[in-house]
Amino acid sequence: MKEFARKQREENRIVGLVPTMGALHAGHLSLIKRARQQCSSVVASIFVNPTQFSPSEDFSKYPRNLPADTEKLESAGVHCLFLPEAKEIYPQGYSTYITVEGLSERLEGRLRPGHFRGVSTVVMKLLQIVQPQFAYFGRKDAQQATIISRMAKDLNLDSEIVVCAIQREPDGLAMSSRNVYLNVTDRQAATVLHRALQAAQLLLQNGIRDASSLQAAMHRVLKEESRAKVDYAEIVDAQTFEPLTHINRTAYVLIAAKFGETRLLDNMLVDFSDTGQLTAEL
Ligand code: AMP
Repeated sequence: MKEFARKQREENRIVGLVPTMGALHAGHLSLIKRARQQCSSVVASIFVNPTQFSPSEDFSKYPRNLPADTEKLESAGVHCLFLPEAKEIYPQGYSTYITVEGLSERLEGRLRPGHFRGVSTVVMKLLQIVQPQFAYFGRKDAQQATIISRMAKDLNLDSEIVVCAIQREPDGLAMSSRNVYLNVTDRQAATVLHRALQAAQLLLQNGIRDASSLQAAMHRVLKEESRAKVDYAEIVDAQTFEPLTHINRTAYVLIAAKFGETRLLDNMLVDFSDTGQLTAEL
């Protein structure tokens, strides 16, 4: 891969990296499409990163389907598929980890200790190996994308982090590799996440800005679905992930909930134009 990266630089190619853990769906392919628009050489990586899973999580049973993934990436026009092995990323004696402080301790970080340390470390390594000018991440994992952007800024990385829109199923469920774990009943129940965000969106569009009203509206919708075991429904500053009581700057409305054994995330980005006009994007 290092050789490929060197050749791309020699040929003055603009390299884009799309890191994934495989089990690809249209969400991943939207990142590839975006990369293809901006870059002359698109690298997709598939690596199920052991360091971001805790011992109790689903590392060994995480969905893997390399033949189908390869076909999807080829049809999407990827120029290079990077499939590192664990011993290549973490050779014997490996001992260097990246921690983005503060941001990594909140919400997902609090519920999944060590998760973002694993994510930041592997992304840093992929960026070092591939040396892309651009790297693409989905807003579906908003805290992850914010942590990676912070790391790139703090460590003066040459790669620009591009955060792409959430791709959804026709009924609103955010696409995720973990959706395949859902049985028919939980798959139906999981649409409640999108409906809860829509309830908050409606209030925002009607001028409501206080976080407690939005949270109450989300919890009302979430309560109607007894299969949803809610971890949080929070409103945070989009840079720091500190809770907001009043939405007066760029913010995320974030939900995490479990359906059976499957934990799902969803969010809405709340932004303001220069004229102060609010947008709430699902
Ligand atoms: P994963 O394979 O789950 O690690 O995801 C790889 C990348 O795809 C991450 O940057 C995710 O945020 C992104 N991604 C996953 N699901 C979606 C989605 N529904 N829409 C957009 N991007 C997504």
